[in-house]
Amino acid sequence: MNDDQLLRYSRHILLPEIGVEGQERLRRARALIIGAGGLGCPASLYLAAAGVGRLTLADADKVDLTNLQRQILYRTDSVGRPKVHAARDALAAVNPEVNVVALARRIEAAEFDPLVADADVVLDCSDNFVTRHALNRACVRHRRPLVSGAAIRFDAQIMAFDLRDPASACYACLFPEEGEVEEVQCSVMGVFAPMTGVVGASQAMEALKILGGFGESLGGRMLLLDARNSEWRSVRVRKDPACPVCK
Ligand SMILES: [Zn+2]
Repeated sequence: MNDDQLLRYSRHILLPEIGVEGQERLRRARALIIGAGGLGCPASLYLAAAGVGRLTLADADKVDLTNLQRQILYRTDSVGRPKVHAARDALAAVNPEVNVVALARRIEAAEFDPLVADADVVLDCSDNFVTRHALNRACVRHRRPLVSGAAIRFDAQIMAFDLRDPASACYACLFPEEGEVEEVQCSVMGVFAPMTGVVGASQAMEALKILGGFGESLGGRMLLLDARNSEWRSVRVRKDPACPVCK
């Protein structure tokens, strides 16, 4: 690292758990972030600020006025631009050293394979079960750690599945693909703005620990946040031996 980098990352380097070596690992790391909305904005902002070498950010949407209440990478004059292009500019302004690959299109299931295989960690910041399950399948196939977040109304979940470990549960162990799940999206249900920041930042936290090789991952537990009552719960997550995706 050069002098500027040593300064930029000094507050990480001062942490004995990270140090110069951990920071170098972050600089060499590649993260895939699916969704540049309420969760993807804070997640990618922290990963960029922390110096993760390459961020691939995928989202087909354009910035809408209703997004600005919580999607913190965007400004009023971003409205109408593809989200990932506005995000790339905002992230470059924070940290020009990070290589941001912007994919301004809907990623089809087959395309997840090469994207996931080419990443060291995957962040699911999407808002629908089709994407969540396709991404989970690709992470199981390629044994890539998956950090999943969800936020709706005043309720949120954070999960991490370290699929490098064959004993790890996967997303489908908790939420079966053919399960009866009601699809609810922020576009119709409403979402409490700062809670998306809490969840996206927590996803970045888990991803950085995985990439930097420090701390203990959330793997094996799901964090549940009730923001209305400021209550956190931690629930054990077990691998389902009958799960058709990861058995
Ligand atoms: Zn499973």
